[in-house]
Amino acid sequence: MSQPSKPQGRRFQLPEHLKVYQGVWVIIEQERGQVHSVSWELVGEARKLADKLGVEVAAVVLGAEGPDLNRICGESFGFGADVVYKVTHPCLKDYRTDPYSKVMTEVVNTYKPEIVLLGATTLGRDLAGAIATTLNTGLTADCTELDIYAENRSLAATRPTFGGTLLCTIQTLAYRPQMATVRPRVMAMPDRDETRIGRVIEVTPTLVEDEIVTKVLNFIPDSAQNEAQLAFADIIVSAGKGLGKQENMKLVWDLAKVLGAEVGVSRPLVQAGWVGNDRQVGQTGKTVRPKLYIAAGISGAIQHRVGMEKSDLILAINTDPNATIFEFAHYGIVGDALKILPALTEAFAKKLSVNRLAS
Ligand SMILES: Cc1cc2nc3c(=O)[nH]c(=O)nc-3n(C[C@H](O)[C@H](O)[C@H](O)COP(=O)(O)OP(=O)(O)OC[C@H]3O[C@@H](n4cnc5c(N)ncnc54)[C@H](O)[C@@H]3O)c2cc1C
Repeated sequence: MSQPSKPQGRRFQLPEHLKVYQGVWVIIEQERGQVHSVSWELVGEARKLADKLGVEVAAVVLGAEGPDLNRICGESFGFGADVVYKVTHPCLKDYRTDPYSKVMTEVVNTYKPEIVLLGATTLGRDLAGAIATTLNTGLTADCTELDIYAENRSLAATRPTFGGTLLCTIQTLAYRPQMATVRPRVMAMPDRDETRIGRVIEVTPTLVEDEIVTKVLNFIPDSAQNEAQLAFADIIVSAGKGLGKQENMKLVWDLAKVLGAEVGVSRPLVQAGWVGNDRQVGQTGKTVRPKLYIAAGISGAIQHRVGMEKSDLILAINTDPNATIFEFAHYGIVGDALKILPALTEAFAKKLSVNRLAS
């Protein structure tokens, strides 16, 4: 009888043949010519990682040949890419897991990037999981921070864990590429430089429509597209349990209307049925990054904080001077939100109408 093979144990060293993997890639998410903004946020982040590694940033643009794809290639350079892999085939016109993951697996195996980033969107999560499996490599999902670990040049991908009470940093030590998804608005949008140019590498994969089991029969626009768009709002007025009762939400809506803002909430308000879960900010809700986030009657629990702490400016209103939210808000008002919200609404209404008249 043959001896059972010795357990190999875990590999923590990068095998020699994987050391040739180089460059930071972002898979650009586009549908019908519209690029998801998270892709540009990731190109900006990829630029920082690549500069630390001394390598190039590549954008991978997949789709059917046409003017939209050419425009997206140009935009990729503007946001920071050095190289664009333009992968075209009629079968890639609409996103489908099988052709996209097949093609991406082949392109990665051919050109060997060391890091591959995608947005943690519905599409990005689907594609990232599929290709990490076929490539037999590690994927860290829903990251909030990316960096390069100087000691071994590996990607340090940080994400909330244990219900958001801890942040853990994950490294893929012995496999390549290192993959990560990042939620929209977690990373800053880079400035666009329209004068930047770069190299385009055309890739024409072999795909046979008859061999793809999923078929796109029709495109029906999302009926929920008029719902809250928190992730893309410049101003958000958010309410927490400190509002006391549902009727007081009117004060939040009034201020939001004057400011042209979206309304967000903490989780207990969704659980109480005051608003739908598309307005929940936080770990199990939306990640937001507005220019101004007004938090009224919100304590600042970690699960809420991870969804809004990267806002450019946070104004907190809370009766408790020791509320956690004051530890990370830029401005704080210690007081009753039921009095302060209407006062802000009135003040902004006056100020903004003066500005409108003046302009
Ligand atoms: C697995 C898990 C996931 C979670 N995900 C999320 C998430 O995605 N998003 C989220 O928000 N939470 C989430 N939570 C819940 C989170 O832990 C907190 O319970 C929640 O954020 C608290 O909401 P709050 O700040 O509105 O309420 P509280 O913590 O009760 O705070 C209310 C605040 O209002 C203040 N206040 C009271 N009266 C007034 C007044 N009149 N004027 C001004 N201030 C007043 C109080 O001083 C207090 O600071 C999650 C929890 C778990 C376990």
